[in-house]
Amino acid sequence: MKVRVSILAGIGALLASSFLINGTALAADPYPNKPITLVVPFAAGGPTDAVARLIAIPMGKSLGQTVIVENTVGAGGTIAATRVARSAPDGYMVFIHHMGMATAPALYKKLQFDPMKDFEYIGQVVDVPMVLLGRKNFPPNNFKELEAYIKVNKEKVTLANAGPGAVSQLCGLLFMSREGVELTTVPYKGTGPALTDLLGGQVDLLCDQTTQTVPYIRDGLVKTYGVTTPKRLSALPNIPTLDEQGLKGFDVKVWHGMYVSKGTPPAVLAKINKALNAALNDPEVKTRLAESNIEIVPASKATPAGLKDHLEAEINKWGPVIRKAGAYAD
Ligand code: ASP
Repeated sequence: MKVRVSILAGIGALLASSFLINGTALAADPYPNKPITLVVPFAAGGPTDAVARLIAIPMGKSLGQTVIVENTVGAGGTIAATRVARSAPDGYMVFIHHMGMATAPALYKKLQFDPMKDFEYIGQVVDVPMVLLGRKNFPPNNFKELEAYIKVNKEKVTLANAGPGAVSQLCGLLFMSREGVELTTVPYKGTGPALTDLLGGQVDLLCDQTTQTVPYIRDGLVKTYGVTTPKRLSALPNIPTLDEQGLKGFDVKVWHGMYVSKGTPPAVLAKINKALNAALNDPEVKTRLAESNIEIVPASKATPAGLKDHLEAEINKWGPVIRKAGAYAD
């Protein structure tokens, strides 16, 4: 009996000491205790990448750890989303993606993740308008000339995009359907490399976000046919909207959200959300985003519920449209 007691006491002491060790370790190493990866689902040098790199630094400052941006490209962002959905729920892999998160379930037949089941939501980030651009030496000089040109030359006109599910693809599809033409589309792994080719004259047209395009537009290095929002942009007041040039109701603006994998503890989610909001309120970030006509979402949307509700509404909005159009990717 005595022996048994002392064995039990020994086990108790062991357990107590291991709790103590764990307790001490936990107390000494609260989240985050190592660098955090911020996954971008498109190529470096594109709009999603640029926003991620801009907010990664102040987010890192707020979290007290480096936030490292990593590009996991391909399949309109779904490869990256799958990677994040399968990552450990510990807050060390954070994901930024645009409205492709909402269009993917209808677009992809064999999706490896469920946007409504496999993630925890940090918050919405920014809204970005788009501009329909042409290469500098593309013959049409304005939207009316473009409409006339594509009607006659449709087989040889090339339209770049960032792959199935990219917003550049959706914007291009909407433009072609409104014009009743089918152009030759050229997919890239992000609009960063697509813009490089547009500047180099290798492709004719690209519907891109304003994130990187404003200086090229101002310097006349690309031709501009119209902005995709119903209102003109304050950063580009002289560029007419597509709506005012005849494509009534043309309205594409790209929303972005931040996610981690399902099961990440609430305390970790709260820290990442705090860091996101600190970054969005950083004066330098605000200035840089305003220069590119990027809108920071109101604080009420930069919340887990703000993103979750919006994502759900967007899935319900896009799903029927995509299914009706029969626009599936593999
Ligand atoms: N935002 C782009 C698109 O979906 C891709 C990118 O960020 O590079 O078209």
